Amino acid sequence: MNILVINTGSSSIKYQLFNMDSETALVTGLAEKLGEESSILTHTPAEGGKGKFKVEKDRIADHAQGLSRIVELLIDREYGVIQDKSEIAAVGHRVVHGGEDFQSSTIIDEAVIRAVKDNIPLAPLHNPPNLKGIEVARKIFPDAPQVAVFDTAFHQTLPPKAYLYAVPHGLYWKNRIRRYGFHGTSHAYVSHEAAEFMGKKPEDVNLITIHLGNGASMAAVREGRSVDTSMGLTPLEGLVMGTRSGDIDPALPFFLAKNLNMSLDDIDRLLNKESGVKGLCGMNDMREVEDSAMAGDKKAGTALDVYAYRIKKYIGAYYAALGRVDALVFTAGIGENSPLIRGMCCEGLEELGIELDKGKNEERSKANRDISTADSRVKILVIPTNEEKRIARETKRILMSRT
Ligand code: AMP
Repeated sequence: MNILVINTGSSSIKYQLFNMDSETALVTGLAEKLGEESSILTHTPAEGGKGKFKVEKDRIADHAQGLSRIVELLIDREYGVIQDKSEIAAVGHRVVHGGEDFQSSTIIDEAVIRAVKDNIPLAPLHNPPNLKGIEVARKIFPDAPQVAVFDTAFHQTLPPKAYLYAVPHGLYWKNRIRRYGFHGTSHAYVSHEAAEFMGKKPEDVNLITIHLGNGASMAAVREGRSVDTSMGLTPLEGLVMGTRSGDIDPALPFFLAKNLNMSLDDIDRLLNKESGVKGLCGMNDMREVEDSAMAGDKKAGTALDVYAYRIKKYIGAYYAALGRVDALVFTAGIGENSPLIRGMCCEGLEELGIELDKGKNEERSKANRDISTADSRVKILVIPTNEEKRIARETKRILMSRT
């Protein structure tokens, strides 16, 4: 069974075609700069499989033209990996915000589309392009079921004590202001993989999952269900990120408006685009920050301290929330690749039963792995995330549950 996974942004379409009998990606690709003069389509078939690598630099006017061109490449005799689009059994879509309407992935019908539209105020930058992707995929694949996999769904199991902000209650029941959390597809994927790696079922383990990419978030996962997470109503809350501040005093925006005369748009840009690690040291690529810190750049060193200290505080908080923790799980660009950050986050946590094996932490690998000492009561795992595979698995699960 082949499943096409699509992640549509405002001017891009990321795609992967999976053979779900073997759970392997046949091809990965990205159409970007849609609508610009020089759009780029990069099509990368899996090594050793069918099809050839291709980069196209022709103008692609919009998402409809982009997806049509992607399908032409998928079935191209030279570059393609299948012969006909009818070989695609279903399309799985990443949808950022499902609000409180979706606790799980779902087959897309008119009611689902309406609900995703209703949630646009909660994700004004993401839900509209996601809807566009659904619209064009339904036209191009009229016979293939389409499945929505929501970034918020995994966190819909949070209890009220974790998702309510202590603000007037009407803001929740009238305006749906609450913690939603994001990166749910990644937290769900690594939780599942981590349990399997430990030879257990997801419902038999308690985990703290730590997604450290350009965006960053953590989740407390009890018996396979998310019970708390660090991102909130928006992805700005929680950890220090590449360019986002994460947690701040909520009075900071008033202070900036009153004393520095900043507008709401100025403050929005400041906290989302000019803060985080970049705000602290001028760089947001963690490799560059680490190299600069090693070379003696004090600001970069301090940025790393602030970054890792925030994560450590959340480890403590989620440890307390869970009561018993079986493993910490590091994932995404930084979590998977930075021994320095992992080491700083775990330093001094031995009393909590968290003991890092320094040698294993330094080893480079793309595999799921355990980097804790043999005696560590809490395992420390590195699990490479794969949101597309999770979307493909969810799409397959939903299809199978219909038959
Ligand atoms: P992602 O959003 O998951 O692609 O992660 C992007 C982040 O991972 C960027 O800040 C990169 O600098 C960081 N990253 C990737 N490789 C490494 C590495 N070897 N060491 C430190 N950070 C890395």
